[in-house]
Amino acid sequence: MMREQTDILISGAGIAGLVAAAALSAQGYRVVIVDPSPPAQTAEAEGSDLRSTAFLQPSRELFERLGLWNTLAPHATPLRALRVIDTWGWPPQERGRRQFDPRDLNAENFGWNLANWRCRAVLSDHIATTPGIDLRLGVGFADMLRRDAGVRVTLSDGSRIEARLVIGADGRNSPVARAAGIGAQVRRYGQKALALVACHSLPHDEVSTEIYNSGGAFTTVPLPDHEGSPASAIVWMNDGARAHALAGMEDAAFAQEMTLRSCGVLGAMHPVSPRRLWPVVTRTADALTGKRTALVAEAAHVLPPIGAQGLNTSLHDVGALIAALSDDPGAPDGLARYEASRARDIAGRARVIDLFNRVCQSDMAAVQSLRLAGLRGVHDLAPLRRGVMRAGMGPAQNT
Ligand SMILES: Cc1cc2nc3c(=O)[nH]c(=O)nc-3n(C[C@H](O)[C@H](O)[C@H](O)COP(=O)(O)OP(=O)(O)OC[C@H]3O[C@@H](n4cnc5c(N)ncnc54)[C@H](O)[C@@H]3O)c2cc1C
Repeated sequence: MMREQTDILISGAGIAGLVAAAALSAQGYRVVIVDPSPPAQTAEAEGSDLRSTAFLQPSRELFERLGLWNTLAPHATPLRALRVIDTWGWPPQERGRRQFDPRDLNAENFGWNLANWRCRAVLSDHIATTPGIDLRLGVGFADMLRRDAGVRVTLSDGSRIEARLVIGADGRNSPVARAAGIGAQVRRYGQKALALVACHSLPHDEVSTEIYNSGGAFTTVPLPDHEGSPASAIVWMNDGARAHALAGMEDAAFAQEMTLRSCGVLGAMHPVSPRRLWPVVTRTADALTGKRTALVAEAAHVLPPIGAQGLNTSLHDVGALIAALSDDPGAPDGLARYEASRARDIAGRARVIDLFNRVCQSDMAAVQSLRLAGLRGVHDLAPLRRGVMRAGMGPAQNT
């Protein structure tokens, strides 16, 4: 019996896997993409990803080239500025603030913010009807047998597919990385990020705000109004015990703590979604490729949620992979090109964000003063300010 065949099998239909499927099929490859968890259709649904992603300009350019932007745009809120506030003590006392403006880089916006659950649902609907892509939800990657010329993949329902390349886009505990024997370096901080949606009495004016205090950053990212009230996605980093205490608080007490922590920049705040806790780690895979295998996104790198780097870095992986592959998508030379083009950028970003997170988390007075001096220095020296903003946006997409 002829076994089912495809050019590329993608394990993981999260945002990164879905974008990879669209980009690879646009290059003419036949793609099968599998995921055991179908996308949530509402914020309240079980397992719904309440994080949001601030897609930076290069990610939008990738979406436009793939014809995905028009579908996503109605759900996106532009980010017209980034405000950074440094604070001290509890309740937090402001010590300094600076605003970063994308017009410094001749751009109208830094990016566009989209709720992850919505983004995944919209992309998944689009991919389900794209010719050349076979999206299978409810079934996952189970194992693989790799030979020089191809890979025999076994799925969780026992079915088998022959592929020329297997892409692991299956998240921070990537089953593909495990099956390929690719390990990872992990740094833990004893920190957790609380992700939720909150409404507030003052408008966000399409400005994202990061407020630093010991324990980590408190970040608000603009969303469309929620039932007529201004709303933002909140990422609130804390040491583990405090994060668990906040996650378990009743709504009124939590609202009070959140309003204090936000220094009132958005007025009175209250939660309008469940609160989800995410461990904060830096995790970098020991390799991005193996025989007939490539890792992208969180399967390859997990970063603390600072500066909208995680998923944006993942989309750079997708762009680089497309540019590197040849007619035989799993051939060693293409995979070597992919590894070479991404390894340095990923390691560099992981180093900078790790250092930044440790400085932000520290409650030592000297380190906190360094943080304030750093903010002033970066903002007030125009060439440095532009350089840091440009580096944060990442390399231009090259598909
Ligand atoms: C609190 C927080 C806020 C963040 N904010 C931002 C931000 O503003 N900007 C930004 O760029 N990044 C941000 N990030 C990072 C970003 O959210 C993640 O990088 C991104 O969501 C991960 O996407 P992914 O597709 O790699 O993984 P996931 O979304 O985890 O997707 C992996 C998929 O693989 C599937 N899977 C698992 N097992 C299997 C299997 N056996 N077979 C097949 N599929 C499988 C899962 O079901 C899942 O759907 C944030 C992270 C955190 C923690």
